[in-house]
Amino acid sequence: MSQPKILLLGAPGAGKGTQSSNLVEEYGVEHVTTGDALRANKDMETEHGTPRSFMEAGELVPDPVVNEIVQAALDDADGFVLDGYPRNLDQAEYLAEITDLDVAAYFEVADEELIDRLTGRRVCEDCGANFHVKYAPPEEEGVCDECGGDLIQRDDDTEETARERLRVFEENTLPVVEFYDEEGDLARIDGEQAPDEVWADLEAAIEDAL
Ligand code: AMP
Repeated sequence: MSQPKILLLGAPGAGKGTQSSNLVEEYGVEHVTTGDALRANKDMETEHGTPRSFMEAGELVPDPVVNEIVQAALDDADGFVLDGYPRNLDQAEYLAEITDLDVAAYFEVADEELIDRLTGRRVCEDCGANFHVKYAPPEEEGVCDECGGDLIQRDDDTEETARERLRVFEENTLPVVEFYDEEGDLARIDGEQAPDEVWADLEAAIEDAL
């Protein structure tokens, strides 16, 4: 059987990255994440400008830029977990043209919890591992437990930009959640549970769908 094609939906900070790592380990799928791809290419010149200015303001990077990234990544992948895309209805329609999903899951988390998670998040500059100043502190402040790299706060995890990202999510991406809901194949998962409880629900939803 070919590998599963999984879509994770949820606001910034809902836990998509954490659960994507579990899916990669469990199912051997590719992790396709537009956020990481764009962060690695912030200053890439495109006819729409560079991604940096959009990202630092918490706004969406123009569709043609992200669609191209996703198409190239999906062409190369057998199964995948897609994280951070689609973020608006046009992207969802584009995705429907290039692939069929096996399962779409949506992590539900309240706004104030998301702000707390985002503003406390620290990321390793070298290996990308995630920590949280309160909920998942590293053994030594500012130092990655995995590789010893420096931990930094993402430019867009400041409170002001995090709030703008949540506004952009509500305006552009909630309609995408409804789009999959109406198709009848959306698994809604309580994203405020502990990560291993979220994982148990996600795994059950995937086993159900396959
Ligand atoms: P993330 O790491 O998924 O929170 O993404 C960080 C930033 O990258 C977002 O705030 C957007 O500026 C940009 N970005 C990521 N994915 C997309 C997408 N599918 N469409 C447009 N912009 C995106």
